[in-house]
Amino acid sequence: MSGRVHSIESCGTVDGPGIRMVVFLSGCPMRCLYCHNPDTWDPKGGTLTSVDEILAQYDKMKHFYTKGGITVSGGEPLMQIGFVTELFAEAKKRGIHTCLDTSGITFRSDSPALLEQFDRLTAVTDLVLLDIKHIDPNEHEKLCSQPQQPVMAFEAYLEQKGIPVWIRHVVVPGITDKEEYLLRLGRYLGTRSNIKALDVLPYHDMGKVKYKNLGIPYPLESTPPLSKEAAAKARQVILAGMRESRSGRH
Ligand code: SF4
Repeated sequence: MSGRVHSIESCGTVDGPGIRMVVFLSGCPMRCLYCHNPDTWDPKGGTLTSVDEILAQYDKMKHFYTKGGITVSGGEPLMQIGFVTELFAEAKKRGIHTCLDTSGITFRSDSPALLEQFDRLTAVTDLVLLDIKHIDPNEHEKLCSQPQQPVMAFEAYLEQKGIPVWIRHVVVPGITDKEEYLLRLGRYLGTRSNIKALDVLPYHDMGKVKYKNLGIPYPLESTPPLSKEAAAKARQVILAGMRESRSGRH
């Protein structure tokens, strides 16, 4: 089976544990205002690449990956769920740690056929990096043009399956940085039993040049990048919210 691959990073260190091969797939139904990879949006973009080709590339570098594995990212990798499932199934046969970096946006619990696909995928997935874009449903839709409900439903599904999740959250000035939102996010995370890590990332505008090259207006032209220190403070607020809800105060 082949999938549309945007690019492959052979020594990724920020997308899951250890040193990893990170496979970025093409296609994304979200339009996050802060997206720095608009070149991954096109579902017909990328290069058709087979599972065997990816694993052959992995094998050449496997001595680097002893404490790592494979991460599939995007774009939105769930748009090619069949391909990711086959890649992970083959990886698991070789004892490779598998990690899915996703927004969860394509998840639907009311479609038995789709749920079956998700069951097959999660049976061969060791870890999920789940992006929660905004804790407020209305603001979520404004920020990334898609409803928040599937994301939360996906997290509930992963919890039920016992799949460990690392949460990712981008702090964007004027959009997600309000204390109220950060606390709400923390209180929600405090109710989940499968959250194993929290990665809070500062908004940056390094993707601007890609928008220019693609002839798309940059939506956050007047939003300043956030400092690492401010992101670290935001993380503390989220953690305080988690502690609050775990101690039963919310
Ligand atoms: S989900 Fe990721 S790739 Fe898709 S628009 Fe948002 S930031 Fe960009």
